Amino acid sequence: MKQKGFWKQYKELIKDVVLDYQYQVMLDEKDITIEREREDASLPHEKSQAITNLKIAAGLEEGEHYGWWFQDTDVYKWIETAAYTIENFDDPKLKKRVDDVIDIIELAQEDSGYLSTFYQLRAPDLKYKELDKSHELYNAGHLIEAAVAYYRATNEKKLLDVSIKFVQNIMDNFGEGKIEGADGHQEVELALVKLYQLTQDKKYLDLSRYFIDVRGKNPEFYNEQKRALNQEPFTNLDYLQAYDLPINQKEAKGHAVRMLYMMEAMADLAYYQNDSKMKSAVKTLWDDIINTKMYITGGVGQTVQGEAFAQSYELPNDTMYCETCAAIGMVNTAKRLFKLEQDDAIIDTMERSLYNGMLAGMSQDGEHFFYVNPLEYIKDRYNPDKGHVKGERPEWLGCACCPPNIARTIASIDSYFYSKVDNDLYIHMYGDAKYEDENITIIQTSAFPSQDNHQFEIQIKNDASTLHFRKPNWSDNLIITLDGKIIPEKIILEPGNYQIHVAIENEPFALYTTPEVVHNANKVAFQYGPFVYCGETHDQETNIYKYFVDPSYIETQLVEDALGVRYNLKVDAHKHITSKTLYSRNLEKTEKSSVNLIPYYLWANRGLSDMMVWLFRKV
Ligand SMILES: [Zn+2]
Repeated sequence: MKQKGFWKQYKELIKDVVLDYQYQVMLDEKDITIEREREDASLPHEKSQAITNLKIAAGLEEGEHYGWWFQDTDVYKWIETAAYTIENFDDPKLKKRVDDVIDIIELAQEDSGYLSTFYQLRAPDLKYKELDKSHELYNAGHLIEAAVAYYRATNEKKLLDVSIKFVQNIMDNFGEGKIEGADGHQEVELALVKLYQLTQDKKYLDLSRYFIDVRGKNPEFYNEQKRALNQEPFTNLDYLQAYDLPINQKEAKGHAVRMLYMMEAMADLAYYQNDSKMKSAVKTLWDDIINTKMYITGGVGQTVQGEAFAQSYELPNDTMYCETCAAIGMVNTAKRLFKLEQDDAIIDTMERSLYNGMLAGMSQDGEHFFYVNPLEYIKDRYNPDKGHVKGERPEWLGCACCPPNIARTIASIDSYFYSKVDNDLYIHMYGDAKYEDENITIIQTSAFPSQDNHQFEIQIKNDASTLHFRKPNWSDNLIITLDGKIIPEKIILEPGNYQIHVAIENEPFALYTTPEVVHNANKVAFQYGPFVYCGETHDQETNIYKYFVDPSYIETQLVEDALGVRYNLKVDAHKHITSKTLYSRNLEKTEKSSVNLIPYYLWANRGLSDMMVWLFRKV
């Protein structure tokens, strides 16, 4: 099979389709159906207007603001995606389009530095006065992330200056003796670290630390803001992770995306401030998630109520939330935790969330997006508790945080393949991705996922470097060769050019859940390489939920069709010969059969179908 490059194809899809599609959606130039992310009549879904809001704030158009407090961030994440894409592919047309949008953003910013179109256009008297919901600093955070990425890609400072001016406005308004509280939605904390990494200006790191340390310091902070506005003084502090100082928190609670964005910042602060207490705090939260609250897809957020974590081991497959952004939060938290502690198990989780929980968030055509990622969807079994669970990806969402979030993650995928810690270079994942710094260049190519043979062209320029090749937890054996000779997973290379070959020996396998998870009792899931599998009724003789599988026999089938190149799995099974009687004193008859499974990230690309990750096990 041709060596196309799994991620190269995705990056090209972002460049050729996704960026243009999202741009047109944000200008409401696409004839599409925008869906509410969950059943709630109050949720806006008529249009996006994200770029137009900025034009109105800039005085370039007349009109009213439309959408969420954070509608601007769709545009910022789109710019960030474009920045990585411009870095990967020279694309002057795209750059011109981005520059025009940056001009609008610059004009939309107030002289004070403030920039949040919702409050500028709808409620100028309420700026920074309702921080539990206002997302103003969240907006600043995504602006910073976009600006840093665009500066790194182009060396152009206009957007960076806008973001620094906004940060100055935040510094003018927040801190001791000023507003002593944090934004309800964490984001600016991690973005300020990125601004510090770029500028090396410690005040940004200190401000990030300030916002982490002030959260939960005065649990009455948000209620005091509400009393000042004559509003009901009630705040769900768990939802905001503001019931205690983050450094004291022991379990993942509340809104999943907020939790993970906070953990990203905590991990970064622990690293840059060499703070062992912060490190232990973020590790405690991480362990709570991966040991008791994470789905096998690497998705998190067990309930629609507050888009939130629930109790340990409560992992329903059909009513869960598993927001695409939360899986991205897992990926980004893992990447930062690894800098603190070079443990490959962290990368095993990162890879799980990336190839499954996150990647399922976008269709193969690049124009449909999941907000919620179920592990089980049964067609024609609707009930109101599943109002948020969709069987097909919408063209866009009223709350569109996920579509540009997945786009920016894919566009910057190379950065997840490698980590440099001190002078050691860690190769995390195998596929097609490059790495470059002043001393090391790595170009990795392979026919993944059709083959697990990976070629590395490595150039070490000035100083000897230590390379570490990760042995994934799904692999049986890793065979690394240099000039035909087997080398260990950790190797020191002197300056020079090298060709290294990595072959991964691995087989598909079955996975079981601890009996603590009632939802998965007597069920089994399948994994091959980094991919978790699922069964869609499309590929079976009858509904996927009518099968009992026998995991002792799994066959792999290399397939190339409209869904791309992949391995499907065929697993022995027995299927029900269903009667229509609702209840019966007799066990139903079964007959020998088999089920056909596809990688989970590809589900819901062929029209509505039942889908299950956890299949009934024949006992
Ligand atoms: Zn989202």
